[in-house]
This record gives sequence, C-alpha cells and structure tokens, in this order.
Amino acid sequence: MTMNMTLTCENCGSGVHLTPGTDIKTAECKICNHTQPVKFNETHVKAELTDCPCCSRKDFYKQKDFNRKIGVALFVIAAVLSIWTYGISFIVLYAMDLLLYRKLPEIAICYKCNSIFRGVSNILDIHGFNHEMNDRIVYADHDFKGQQLEH
Ligand SMILES: [Zn+2]
Ligand SMILES: [Zn+2]
Repeated sequence: MTMNMTLTCENCGSGVHLTPGTDIKTAECKICNHTQPVKFNETHVKAELTDCPCCSRKDFYKQKDFNRKIGVALFVIAAVLSIWTYGISFIVLYAMDLLLYRKLPEIAICYKCNSIFRGVSNILDIHGFNHEMNDRIVYADHDFKGQQLEH
C-alpha cells in the first residue's frame, strides 16, 4: 500500500499532491509556486499515519472518499430522466448510491491543516469526524495528541 496526500496550500488554498518520501522536504504549490515545509519519516513511507507531515499534529478523522460533484451530477441526471421514467431513475440512483458508497475507500483528514491522506494502512485506527474535537482544534488550537475524545 502506498499512501499519498493532498495538502492545502497555506497561501492560495489549492490542493498540492504528494507521495511520501524521506527526501522530500518541501511541498510546492503548482498554482502559486508557494513552498511550505513537510516532514516525512519511514512511517509515512510505510503508509502509516501517526503524525501529520504538514503540521505535525496527531489528530485525524476518516470519511468516505466521496466526490460531491459526481453526486450532484448524478442527481441532476436522475431528475431529468424521471420525467420520462416516472421516477424510476430515482430508485436506480438510490441503488447505485448504496452500491457506490459501500465500495468507496476511506480517507483520513487532518483536523488542524485539512490535509487529506489516501491509501492509509492504519485507517481502522482512525475514528470518524468528531465535532467537539474539530471545534477545539480549529477554534481553540487544542492539541489532542492523537487521543480520541470519548463521551
Ligand atoms: Zn498555492
Ligand atoms: Zn496537519
């Protein structure tokens, strides 16, 4: 398994794609040419995500790798077709959605810097999105140091 990451350019907000390598020290944005430091270690090369190469934090959440734009496009097509199919296209869309959703891989996202990680080998150790953790990290700059907040 090879992990790859998409970090958010701190200058212009564009996505910067990277494949971990211990010799990679900076990430360059192809849109604005801004470079920012990244820290990759052997763990990242082994596709294990324990700390963020971009902001060094250890707090991540996971979600399905769902492409919102495709979802919206499919819905529009189903809506148009439903005029001729008496709504059957919506049932087809619903079934397709379920099927696609189950097949979607999971990605990990850094709470602090919003970097996205695909192909993470320890994805099962990462929890789903936690609202309280997100608020405390984003607004109060709290560092959970990889400890999941449980209720
Ligand atoms: Zn940029
Ligand atoms: Zn980060």
